[in-house]
Amino acid sequence: MTTTPQLGLADNYGRVATDLRVSLTDRCNLRCTYCMPEEGLDWLAKPELLTDDEIVRLVSVAVTHLGVDEIRFTGGEPLLRRGLVGIVDRTTNLLPRPQVSLTTNGIGLARQAEALRAAGLDRVNVSLDTVRQDTFEQLTRRDRLKDVLAGLAAAHAAGLAPVKVNAVLMRGVNDDQAPELLQFCLDHGYELRFIEQMPLDAQHGWDRSTMITADEILEKLSDRFGLEPTDAATRGSAPAESFTVHGGPQTVGIIASVTRPFCGDCDRVRLTADGQVRDCLFARTESDLRTALRGGASDEELADRWRTAMRGKLPGHGIADPSFLQPARPMSAIGG
Ligand code: SF4
Repeated sequence: MTTTPQLGLADNYGRVATDLRVSLTDRCNLRCTYCMPEEGLDWLAKPELLTDDEIVRLVSVAVTHLGVDEIRFTGGEPLLRRGLVGIVDRTTNLLPRPQVSLTTNGIGLARQAEALRAAGLDRVNVSLDTVRQDTFEQLTRRDRLKDVLAGLAAAHAAGLAPVKVNAVLMRGVNDDQAPELLQFCLDHGYELRFIEQMPLDAQHGWDRSTMITADEILEKLSDRFGLEPTDAATRGSAPAESFTVHGGPQTVGIIASVTRPFCGDCDRVRLTADGQVRDCLFARTESDLRTALRGGASDEELADRWRTAMRGKLPGHGIADPSFLQPARPMSAIGG
């Protein structure tokens, strides 16, 4: 059942959002330096958080009323959400069945991969910026590299496919490790994507000069891995630019949100763990669905509010604009 754009999540620039990212929690069990301070953040209070039933209800509205056909569960760290497997199971039982994926730091995935696969999860993105123990501890302030590697292996063994790895390079920390990280992923059959660091950290310390750009990443990898761009026509709305390694079939991706923005083809919309719609990762305003949901609104009324929310979507993130202001809500409470 295709939804006409008018009934879908259309914005004023001809884009229609069909890919919904749902943050299940703002909590995390890592303390990545480019994301949050060592002491963590003031987490959302329980009453503010959507319940499992409320999440599934809003996801159902998105799928059955708004033409959303891709759901990505994210966080904070979604594996910390006790009802995750049940939420995935109920989502994959929706009709039409959406594609369902998960973005995670991998801690606890070794324990949950089989159950998530059995619940219908299709694929997984695992954040991993290094395969060196000391660098992992320096970047995440935790000694959990073994758990992440075990999680990746378990996802692969459970048949979640593709297993994608998201990596952020930090100047002077792990930017010299890009080749070994790619070799590790090639050896294990994981699809690596490098993500330019974005101005979404809770400390508001992002500095464009310390960000490793897509051009620099290509420079670090091209010679050794014989990178060639894949056919741009096959990219569609995918955030990652894809490159074949030694003529393929294995590839590596680069998500260059800052230096090569791809907002013109954006098909993404986000729902926060406390029931707010974000029409863009960098949105500075949000639309509240939780109050209406708890106030007894019907599915159609919720769908209408969601459609209205998308009309405010800006043409792009505006990071290059001198007037750019970082959103108040940090990445850890929005999700990838
Ligand atoms: S920055 Fe916003 S508009 Fe651009 S691709 Fe990301 S979510 Fe879409």
